[in-house]
Amino acid sequence: MRQAIGHYSHEPERLRLRRSPPANLKNSPPQRMPKKILYSPNSAGPFAISRAKIQLFSECPRCFYLDQRLGVGRPPSLPFTLNDALDKLMKNEFDAYRDSQTTPPLLAQAGLAVVPYRHADLADWRNFRKGLRALHAPTNFDVYGALDDIWVDPATDTLVVADYKATAKKDEATIDGEWQISYKRQVELYQWLLRERGFPVADTAWFVYANGNSAAEAFNARLEFRVTLLSHHGDTSWVVPVLESIKATLNSETLPPPGKKCTYCKYLASAAQALAPCDSDS
Ligand code: SF4
Repeated sequence: MRQAIGHYSHEPERLRLRRSPPANLKNSPPQRMPKKILYSPNSAGPFAISRAKIQLFSECPRCFYLDQRLGVGRPPSLPFTLNDALDKLMKNEFDAYRDSQTTPPLLAQAGLAVVPYRHADLADWRNFRKGLRALHAPTNFDVYGALDDIWVDPATDTLVVADYKATAKKDEATIDGEWQISYKRQVELYQWLLRERGFPVADTAWFVYANGNSAAEAFNARLEFRVTLLSHHGDTSWVVPVLESIKATLNSETLPPPGKKCTYCKYLASAAQALAPCDSDS
């Protein structure tokens, strides 16, 4: 098993090469992507762990262990290009108000006296390869996540976590679905990271939810959205216990049990059993 290497020493070098390749590398063959860094109980360096991996652990500790300890990741999902486009447009819109340090009309109409937050590292905090990071010393985890936006109340200098979401459904957008617990955990992790970095953070986070109107008479190369602001009172008390649980799982030599809601492991075991005679024939 490969030794875990601290993210600090590894990622910046790769990013530097991408931005400005030295002259002697311009005509050289493409660089190989570095192999995935796996957790090793013997490693002394911090282990980088993303918000998405924390979410994976919450869904299924077994899948998480396969990924982070044994190097077998889930197959990649298809890109959500329309959602990504909307996300980028929303960021552009809020960035204009960040430049002018004025309250976006959507927020003013909701009675929110905040402006988009300016910080020299905001672009890095939004970059999924870098993210907003904090070292959790007791577990030696370099925890990180790429947030969508931060607003600030100029009267108190308190930061407010904001996240952009998109959907297309007949009913009003909500964050009450059981599956949307991951959205709530997402903003709560950003609140925790900002507090770990020493910033004062409001308990209330906001979702800017764009709901596409699929009931229009025709497309006409135009999709209209209704944008709603939804608040969430964040509770970050789960973060440290989950990090401790992840640490214990990664240090264990025993594969965790399959997640209760996923039936694929059962399917794989049945398939392997059914295929065994065919394999022995070949
Ligand atoms: S139960 Fe599902 S999610 Fe968990 S390890 Fe098996 S396939 Fe992965």
